[in-house]
Amino acid sequence: MGRVARGLGRFALVASALAVALPAVTSFAAEPLAKNLFGSMKLPAATAPKSFGFYSKGCFSGGVAIATDGPTWQAMRLSRNRRWGHPAMVKLIEKLSRDATADGWPGLLIGDISQPRGGPMLTGHASHQIGLDADIWLTRMPSKTLSATERENMSAISVIKAKGLTVDENIWTPEHARLLRRAASYPEVERLLVHPGIKKKLCETVTGDRSWLRKVRPFWGHDYHFHVRIGCQPGSTGCKAQAATTAGDGCDKSLAWWFTEEPWRPNQNPDAPKARDLMTMSSLPKACRAVLEAPAPVSEAAVTYHGTGAPVAVAAAPERQLDINDILSNPGLPAAASAFFPTPEFGVPLPRPRPDR
Ligand SMILES: [Zn+2]
Repeated sequence: MGRVARGLGRFALVASALAVALPAVTSFAAEPLAKNLFGSMKLPAATAPKSFGFYSKGCFSGGVAIATDGPTWQAMRLSRNRRWGHPAMVKLIEKLSRDATADGWPGLLIGDISQPRGGPMLTGHASHQIGLDADIWLTRMPSKTLSATERENMSAISVIKAKGLTVDENIWTPEHARLLRRAASYPEVERLLVHPGIKKKLCETVTGDRSWLRKVRPFWGHDYHFHVRIGCQPGSTGCKAQAATTAGDGCDKSLAWWFTEEPWRPNQNPDAPKARDLMTMSSLPKACRAVLEAPAPVSEAAVTYHGTGAPVAVAAAPERQLDINDILSNPGLPAAASAFFPTPEFGVPLPRPRPDR
């Protein structure tokens, strides 16, 4: 008896606690996380190619896939389903792969581009959300065709010394520099993100025309791959451009900052949720709801880019004819300014000496 009564009393206590907690839980549950919604999309929105929002806070429609294999590239980590980009991005990667091969680099290993409809990802990247970012490995493509398993498990090789901030001279080659120079040469490329040690090496070794170094920006990570970012494409009125890079080659005190202690201090709060772990649909441009609900193409093959330079036919599945172009071209949508969320950028702090180790 006594035990039952105590049990009931405990139940009542728990129930009253629940009653207090419930409203908060309900409102949280009513707002699904955008990363779960976009992360579960298997195919793109079969509508006109348009990017909405910012690189780190947006989505895109009309995505196309880069083929898993081409004459001058192989796509990696196929299980992630991140081979999707704005057609201009995919076209550019294919062009880079051809040009790089002509330069003496034996083909590209392609890392993540975007999810089929962009948006925040379940893991990794803060950006890559609007189909205009791509990661290219700094590892040469092998001459053989990699199996799907090898593409999952093969490790990229860092070009930075295991302990240090400078390139490993046993790994870094002039061909790496040539690949980056080629990538920076295209007018649509606004930035390349690389490890500061790579930028430093380029600053020290590039002769002749150094103007392309302006686009090469130091950033955390990016020691085994580099990141290509192109600008907002024509027709994407809801795409928020990033601030222009500052003039000059960037081989200055802004680079010196990366060789101080400050950028490498341990995260004081490593368990704090990242932006992508908190974003709901209301965090993204309104147009992203329509992107999420838009019809899918009939198949992946129908929207795989074929490298002809011609746009891919965008054929929606017949059973779901829902044309969102009218919605998306509504001038009331989306307010670009509200989608502004810059990727972390440093100002130009004065360099400080690295502590002795
Ligand atoms: Zn990246």
